[in-house]
Amino acid sequence: MTVTTESFAAGTVVGGPSLPQERRLVTAIPGPRSQELLARKAEAVAVGVGHSAPISAVAAGGGVIVDADDNSLIDLGSGIAVTTVGNAHPKVVEAVQRQVAAFTHTCFMVSPYESYVAVAEALNRLTPGDHAKKSALFSTGAEAVENAVKIARKHTGRQAIVAFDHGYHGRTNLTMALTAKTMPYKSGFGPFAPEVYRAPLSYPFRDGLTGAEAAARAISMIEKQIGGDQVAAVIIEPIQGEGGFIVPADGFLPALVEWCRDNGVVFIADEVQTGFARTGAMFASELFGIVPDLITTAKGLAAGLPLAAVTGRAEIMDAAHPGGLGGTYAGNPIACAAALAAIDAYETEDLPARAAEVGAIIRHRFTALQAGDARIGDVRGLGAMMAVEFVDPTTKEPDAALAAAVAKAAIAEGVIVLTCGTYGNVIRFLPPLSIGDELLNEGLDVVAEALASV
Ligand SMILES: *Cc1c(COP(=O)(O)O)cnc(C)c1O
Repeated sequence: MTVTTESFAAGTVVGGPSLPQERRLVTAIPGPRSQELLARKAEAVAVGVGHSAPISAVAAGGGVIVDADDNSLIDLGSGIAVTTVGNAHPKVVEAVQRQVAAFTHTCFMVSPYESYVAVAEALNRLTPGDHAKKSALFSTGAEAVENAVKIARKHTGRQAIVAFDHGYHGRTNLTMALTAKTMPYKSGFGPFAPEVYRAPLSYPFRDGLTGAEAAARAISMIEKQIGGDQVAAVIIEPIQGEGGFIVPADGFLPALVEWCRDNGVVFIADEVQTGFARTGAMFASELFGIVPDLITTAKGLAAGLPLAAVTGRAEIMDAAHPGGLGGTYAGNPIACAAALAAIDAYETEDLPARAAEVGAIIRHRFTALQAGDARIGDVRGLGAMMAVEFVDPTTKEPDAALAAAVAKAAIAEGVIVLTCGTYGNVIRFLPPLSIGDELLNEGLDVVAEALASV
């Protein structure tokens, strides 16, 4: 089957798992049709909107993305941890088609519909903890984070919010303030929202601290600089995503949660990237043995349709007055239909277990490589959220140029990988869980060859 821009326009493109599961390079990357699109992009789209892989995507599914030149690239990024169930998953496609033909929008705040409530029920059931829970739906991860902060402030009557080094929470004004890294997320875009404080993280590869030590350091900073009775919420990603897939030392997160409980502070786990089977559990919080008061979700929730949520303790969620939460598109019915189908896939296909298998393959490969290549400073992650941190072999200084060169070389050979990290020296692996072992291994071979060649 050949996928082209013309067949896409004619409505005959079928993506999903039936696409041939192969890496296929028909042209150099980018091919002529992709170059044509990128030239139009340069003319029409603001330069602030970047891209990683220079292609014109026309279909995707299983573990591949097919471009307009009929190249088939192995996808190790899932559109940044979004298409975890697989792109154009048949159940998602079917649910979306059914919903779009019935109605596209009524606004849940005007005329409610069942799928929104069903998504809330599913989130209340699936998120950690057996306490009474409620949810509210939004469209983007940043919007979910903003609303979690609103709810925590209303509930506590306090203003201060504590975020962490290497944290990433979005690109809106408040979430820029919460985000640690200036370039490219914040530089020149201030002033930022007030009453946001930054605490030190646990970063075992670089700080050498135990979880208890790192937590004591963070708590001491909070108590000295803000005061526990002034803090509305502590917000943290269980594993920092954009910040470099930093897995905190054991005990760090439980100690923070305990301090929050003792001080009447709302603990918010931002699971926008870690949520929905990605880490080998439905939510990463489970793997650290914590029960957050509020949890934000988005990326994996609706298989690519824009949907986000805040879920948490009913008494906290209900602090916001009627009409205080919402949005015109928040909980859009097409996105809710997609989410219900995706959640069904996570559960019936046991995707948390598949994430653990995928992660084991990636970890095994790079741990073996690390033994003979001192440029690989650290191999870390949980489940199918894995990363490799590149360093100068003698000084351990971050080597961002190496990470960028490896990613570029891999993409040129037909494997899409993403970089991340405060220092830009991390390559992250977030494959769709619909990828087969053989294709995954081929993708990792290409990344290994790219590393050997640069
Ligand atoms: C991506 C991300 C966000 C922002 O989500 P958007 O949908 O891009 O607004 C927030 N928090 C985390 C942890 C993320 O990874």
